[in-house]
Amino acid sequence: MRYLGALILINLLSGCAKEEPIQIDEDTVRDPQQLFEWKLVTSWPKNFPGLGTAPENFARLVERMSAGRLKIKVFGAGQLVPAFEVFDAVSQGITEMGHGASYYWTGKAEETVFFTGVPFGLNAQEINGWLHYGGGLELWRELYEPFNLVPFAGGNTGVQMAGWFNREINSMEDIKGLKMRIPGLGGEVITRAGGTSVTMPGNELYTSMQTGVIDATEWVGPYNDLALGFHQVAKYYYYPGWHEPGSMLEFIVNSDAFEILPDDLKAIVEVATRAVNQDMLDEYTAKNNQALAELIREHGVKLRKLPEPVLSEFRKLSKQVLMEISTRNDLSKRIAESVQNFKEDAMTYHLISEEAYYQARRASSD
Ligand code: CA
Repeated sequence: MRYLGALILINLLSGCAKEEPIQIDEDTVRDPQQLFEWKLVTSWPKNFPGLGTAPENFARLVERMSAGRLKIKVFGAGQLVPAFEVFDAVSQGITEMGHGASYYWTGKAEETVFFTGVPFGLNAQEINGWLHYGGGLELWRELYEPFNLVPFAGGNTGVQMAGWFNREINSMEDIKGLKMRIPGLGGEVITRAGGTSVTMPGNELYTSMQTGVIDATEWVGPYNDLALGFHQVAKYYYYPGWHEPGSMLEFIVNSDAFEILPDDLKAIVEVATRAVNQDMLDEYTAKNNQALAELIREHGVKLRKLPEPVLSEFRKLSKQVLMEISTRNDLSKRIAESVQNFKEDAMTYHLISEEAYYQARRASSD
């Protein structure tokens, strides 16, 4: 009866006869109570604030919404596979699902960077708009399709911090020779500015800073950076996160595993990713400033802004790097154009909305 009701409702909603009837999977009709047990591997330490709790929240939500029909067990980095093997594990079907960041997979496809975020690119609000209403998700699905993966937004950190340094950054001279952990296109910019960029997972950063394997590191923002204890190994904390203005995390699902789910479980997975995507941003919005205050007041961290000439040079180099990546192939061109057009629109509108409001709010507090 339920399925009949759903069919009638769908027909009513579709409103016209030319629509194809909704196909209902025969197995689902035969056994709507089939149970699924999935493994989800992550690039984060188990239960790490925000990044690591997001997939745990996701698993709990899915289990509740499906009344236990889809159970998901979450593994931290290194528990089942290392942080940077999440993509391969899910792609090859070793696990059904993963949580990480698309820009860790530039070795697979350079265009993955667009789905975490690019230097001086979209902020959190904008990347969510682009993904869900600006064609971004379709392009992401197209990029991941050959890898047998279905991607979903998996959280957003908001604007990150520029990172932790043991020397002050007064000019581009201070970037020369600097060995910094910074992934994505931001890393390429640092390299072109005369530094060396490396990518390594979060759980290796503290020791790498402590032993001098790297001179500087970026991670996320105060809430996450405090948790990793960078204030014990670096003196200066720089802003703004020019390289990661609203980094989007990702959930990836093995296409075959996703396809065999009945439609209601597919919808539950989809809705739970949307919920977790927003929830992470809410958490960072609530926690970042408290953590920053603690870093400064209790740990004596010196907060610094990157000088405008340095930001200006980073902007110039970022533009070059983006231009190059945008012309590699048809798909990279389409993705880059889509992001660029969306950004121009968002900037035009945000000039008279978000930006104007921030300015008005500041002025009114005088
Ligand atoms: Ca980062």
